[in-house]
Amino acid sequence: MSARPIKRIYFDHGATTPMLPEVIEAMEPYFAERCGNASSIHSYGREAKRAVDDARARVAKLINADPKEIVFTSGGTESDNLAIKGTAQYKGRTEGHVITSGMEHHAVLEPCARLKTAGFDVTELPITRDGFVEPVAVEAAVREDTVLISVMMANSEVGTIQPVREIASIARARGIPFHTDAVQAVGKIPIDVRKDNIDMLSISSHKIYGPKGVGALYVKAGTSIEPILHGGGHERGLRSSTENVPGIVGLGKAAEIAGKDINECNERMRGMRDQMIESVLKTVPDAYLNGHPTKRLAGNAHFRFDFIEGEGLVLRLDLLGIATSTGSACSTGSLDPSHVLLAMGLKHEQAHGSLRITLGRENTHEEVRYFLDVLPGVVSKLREISPFGNDRPMKGGMGERCVQ
Ligand SMILES: *Cc1c(COP(=O)(O)O)cnc(C)c1O
Repeated sequence: MSARPIKRIYFDHGATTPMLPEVIEAMEPYFAERCGNASSIHSYGREAKRAVDDARARVAKLINADPKEIVFTSGGTESDNLAIKGTAQYKGRTEGHVITSGMEHHAVLEPCARLKTAGFDVTELPITRDGFVEPVAVEAAVREDTVLISVMMANSEVGTIQPVREIASIARARGIPFHTDAVQAVGKIPIDVRKDNIDMLSISSHKIYGPKGVGALYVKAGTSIEPILHGGGHERGLRSSTENVPGIVGLGKAAEIAGKDINECNERMRGMRDQMIESVLKTVPDAYLNGHPTKRLAGNAHFRFDFIEGEGLVLRLDLLGIATSTGSACSTGSLDPSHVLLAMGLKHEQAHGSLRITLGRENTHEEVRYFLDVLPGVVSKLREISPFGNDRPMKGGMGERCVQ
């Protein structure tokens, strides 16, 4: 029998991360004691403005931008919406061509769908079997009337790191604004918006050990973009609303910490991740790795187990104290499997049997060992009780089995 865990184990850092104690400590004074509105001219206001400017400099430094190019927002979703709608619909434009990919986060796909309804043409680039957008596909999709290209830097599900520099160069050479949703990449891979030719880049604080509900959009100086929120003209007119000072301070601190030890953190996580992949593929029959074996985020492991459903697996693991996620969206009330896995060419039933592990800085080898100890038993138990376990190979969709 395996030892029981001493505490709960969090393996879902792709969904959100725990705030670091240093981040909480940095934010604390800005809730009450330093309560100023950054637009006020008295000492409280100046103190808040200094804190916001300081955070702006830290976020800018993490991606090699100028502080003036950082716009604070309410999170990754708003940053994506601002970049996409704010660029495509610049000066009331109502038509044009937008290029994105089939593996984007919904925060990119949905605003693009809106643009389509509004009269724009949208091309969704195909994804390779191991989870990449190919620069040649971007090249082929570009048209005379292309007004925006948006391709994410690292995928949220399978963790594949996209050839963003090559794609951005294609855009730059044609004078097309290039946006990248870097929410999963920031703090995990080194980013240099200048060298990478990026015009807009989305950041979310809660994916890098900062507070929820705050984010940033890098907008290269000179980019033609309009606000989507109108009001008092904060953030140089691009994002009205009183700055979330404690949140911004937290994001600034998280950005500072994230930039300090990327390599060291990655090395640790890669070690644990590779041990996990090797062991799972060896000890669990009919298990596969989704995505590319090496060109992926250090903490991301994404498996596929034949003959079972990801939800069942996530719930069983949760009973054992291990928090993970699945490529299937059943838990959110939808019967559709992950659009990312389907875009990679997986069949519905394959996509349904997926498990995502996203490691973070606080995870330990001991936690990984515990997971590896219990997983084979959990999978075989689920297969025993699965109606699909007995008459392999399984055929057809499993969608109707995903009722909550
Ligand atoms: C989490 C996430 C978002 C959304 O960020 P929020 O701050 O939660 O709005 C957008 N894109 C990607 C790739 C994400 O992982």
